[in-house]
Amino acid sequence: MAEPLFRRGPLRFFRELGTRSQVALCQLPLTLVVAALAVATPFAWPSLLQNPVYLAGIVLHAALFAACFLVPWERLPHRPYLLIPVLDFLAIGLLRNGAMPLLPGLAVLVVFPVIWLSASGMLARSSLVLSFVGPMLIMLPPVLGRFPNLTASDVTTVFLFPLMMLAVSLAIRFASINLRLQQRELAKKDRELRRLLHQSREREKLLETVLDATDVGIAAVDRSGHFLVSNIRQRDFRRATRADDAVPGQGHQLIFGPDRRTLLPPEKRPISRAVAGESFADYLVWAGEGNEQRAVSTAARPLMSEDGSLTGAVVVYSDVTGWVEALTANQELVSNVSHEFKTPLNSIIGNVDLVLDDVSALPPQVSRRLEVVQRNAERLLALVSDLTASASTALNVHPKRTDLASLVETSVGSAQAQAEQAHIELTADVPSPLWAYADPIRIGQALDNLVSNAIKYSPDGGRVRISAEAGSDWVQLSVSDTGMGISSDDAARVFRRFFRSDAARDAAIPGAGLGLSITKMIVERHGGTITCVSGQGEGSTFTLTLPADGPPPSF
Ligand code: ADP
Repeated sequence: MAEPLFRRGPLRFFRELGTRSQVALCQLPLTLVVAALAVATPFAWPSLLQNPVYLAGIVLHAALFAACFLVPWERLPHRPYLLIPVLDFLAIGLLRNGAMPLLPGLAVLVVFPVIWLSASGMLARSSLVLSFVGPMLIMLPPVLGRFPNLTASDVTTVFLFPLMMLAVSLAIRFASINLRLQQRELAKKDRELRRLLHQSREREKLLETVLDATDVGIAAVDRSGHFLVSNIRQRDFRRATRADDAVPGQGHQLIFGPDRRTLLPPEKRPISRAVAGESFADYLVWAGEGNEQRAVSTAARPLMSEDGSLTGAVVVYSDVTGWVEALTANQELVSNVSHEFKTPLNSIIGNVDLVLDDVSALPPQVSRRLEVVQRNAERLLALVSDLTASASTALNVHPKRTDLASLVETSVGSAQAQAEQAHIELTADVPSPLWAYADPIRIGQALDNLVSNAIKYSPDGGRVRISAEAGSDWVQLSVSDTGMGISSDDAARVFRRFFRSDAARDAAIPGAGLGLSITKMIVERHGGTITCVSGQGEGSTFTLTLPADGPPPSF
């Protein structure tokens, strides 16, 4: 940092000169004044041309200036060029005393060697002594000539003028010490900065190594989406998407949505979402095309400055192709097996129904056994339907303007018998009509599932209540029960496929753990959400939120 400061302007120019030129440059101001004096002498003070002392002063000056160039200072030990200002005192003494009484003011020329000596920073004490003694010796000869008849002015001249020069020397000395201290301070800071720079480069290298050693792609971007840091995996991802953009999020990129074919619009790409300040996890995108296509799960967290403003984001990429393929294979298997089960099951149920149609013709024991077969076959069919639905990634919903109040009414009607059997008071408190943008069949299915669960998981009887709330652009339906409830840990997992609470298992309440995952899928396909609030032994409340209106009609 300090370097450029010292290299700038005249200093730089001075440094680049050779030693001889530097010495000559220091002598130049005095030489110029003396040269001017020499030129003016024949015209202004012709009598001085006869004065050998004065002329000796001029000649000595010329010789000193020539010596600046001619002496090989750089080769001499200790570079004794300070001899020049010392000899300047002699030259000025000759000049001044030779020009007396015509030019008494010439004594002031000693300021030049005094400045040079003091600013050189060398021979500190000697330069102070010389700054006093030199001028004193210059002032002394005329005064000595008048000895012993000295006046007060003679004594003042001999001491006051050298004292002034000593003061000049001291002032310059202090100023140059100050300057040198500042230089040292700057040099220290410069060293410190270099050390920090070195340290930060080392850390950067370490960070890069750590990042490259991880299995996930990581990128940090600034607010405009420029990469600040990225690792090898992330660069692989960019290569797979063949990004041809300078700024991520813009330009053409092969990043596809869940169907693996539809290109994501730029604003839906992970980095664009992250730069917009979104924080997300498990955002699945497909990178690249054909056999090279990879499933990538992305997550992002915003980067905040100390004052809380958004400065960028960190985006993480994990290749989940293997996992997604295994899941798809699993779903295909479940869906094929369930499909194969359906036909024989329907045949069993149909035939048992036919036999039971004429129940009076059967011995009572046989009819009871057949009823058990019928019940279990129906349960098996319901389970197979749930399995098919949960394995289906293409669960279609066809939302339209729907009155949820009538769906609630139907659901209450069909669950009433089950509720009565379980000694449950089933009520609904829903304003009619209650419009929402929903698929009546699918939302009816979701509602039936929630109500049937509420009854099923209230083995000791109690109350089940359906209530509603409507906002300007959303509608909420809540199903609450006073049943066995679930712990808050389990409440966070109820929507996972095949999840069943220990309490449900222990109480041998039948179920496969699929109903809520299907319900969640249905609600999410509507652009809605579902939540569960529950506590062990405190009952549960499931709330689904649906959009009140669909997208505006397109003409
Ligand atoms: P199933 O009821 O067939 O087991 P679900 O997906 O509908 O499957 O429910 C998953 C699990 O969530 C249940 O096994 C049960 O442990 C818990 N659960 C669901 N609804 C309730 C409820 N209303 N009260 C208490 N637990 C519930």
